[in-house]
Amino acid sequence: MKISRIDCHVLVDPDYDPAATSSAQDDIVVEVHTDEGLVGIGESDINPWIARACIEAPGTHTMDLGLRNLVLGMDPLDPAAVWQRAYLGTAMAGRRGALIHALGAIDMALWDIRGKAAGKPVWQLLGEQRTDPIRAYASLEPEIGDFDGYVASMVGWARTAVSLGFQAVKAEATFSGPYANMGLLADDEKMTELLTAVRSAIGPDIALMVDVQYAFDSVDRAQRSMDAWSELDLFFVETPLWIDDLDGYAKLVAGSNIKVAAGEWQATRHEFADLIHRGNLDVVQPDIGRVGGLTEALAVCELAASAGRLVVPHVWKTGISLAAAAQLATVTPHMPYFEFLHPDVCESRLRKELVTDEVSIVDGAIQPPAKPGLGVELNRDRLEEFSDAAARLYS
Ligand SMILES: [Mg+2]
Repeated sequence: MKISRIDCHVLVDPDYDPAATSSAQDDIVVEVHTDEGLVGIGESDINPWIARACIEAPGTHTMDLGLRNLVLGMDPLDPAAVWQRAYLGTAMAGRRGALIHALGAIDMALWDIRGKAAGKPVWQLLGEQRTDPIRAYASLEPEIGDFDGYVASMVGWARTAVSLGFQAVKAEATFSGPYANMGLLADDEKMTELLTAVRSAIGPDIALMVDVQYAFDSVDRAQRSMDAWSELDLFFVETPLWIDDLDGYAKLVAGSNIKVAAGEWQATRHEFADLIHRGNLDVVQPDIGRVGGLTEALAVCELAASAGRLVVPHVWKTGISLAAAAQLATVTPHMPYFEFLHPDVCESRLRKELVTDEVSIVDGAIQPPAKPGLGVELNRDRLEEFSDAAARLYS
């Protein structure tokens, strides 16, 4: 079997809000075609126009080509060989960042093809089924620009998430720093106010995480807030410091009783080795597309296992990434949760409408995926609508 064509779909939610800080309102979806008629689907969490350029760009010499020209004609059933060729052939522009994120979408599609070719869900090709329950956490970020309204909406969504069967929820509590959503700015004490409200709404038996999205500009400032949260029984604090401050992370981990998590932007196992060995992070959070696809995510899981760390993947896209995370979680016992943007508690039409997926919660746990491949199908009408919305913006 040979890779015969790669289609790139740049998609935008027609209702997108330029003031929101949400990567769920655009998307790059790739369809990898084969000469035997099988088609695989993948996506990645990256500016979709940049991703399309990484895939479609031509080149003039062997160490700096576009991804598509490198992988056409290769065997789609050997994702590791495709990954290695693409990694080497884009070395001058790639190795990290956008090129690897775009490669992640192609790799995801190859695993979809492998599963479909074998007639098996992808997880059966990745490893052994874990014996404990597979769990996801509900990720909550209302798009509201005033503090009281944000707290009320967060509490309402947290209650809804619990009623949907989630055993864990994560509140975005970002009132400063680069991610301050919808211009919502407030003192650090307001984070504590929000988290206290969520904890009292969901009770003591539901796990609660917080994502502050790089809000703190020093270890001391992060430490002060985390000390104030000691009674809230938080499962982890996500990205308290800027991601390049790995020495700061190591200090924070040494001084904190709450687990510290990061890694949503990282590409390749090499960047995760830095997070684990230099930053000493308790929890690493590969985004399966951004890290370089399932091939590279598997390597990160192995790295984390050998260092005794937890893996909790970042997922902020559509049902495609969610399906990929569910497949990986099914074979990864040191993955206590993966991120889950539930259609009932999110703002993105892409998440709600682009694909039909089968990831569902029964008795608080995810059922192992059963359909061949990733188990998702594109809704062609929505694909066309979201493509048109992107073309109106920038073709
Ligand atoms: Mg985050």
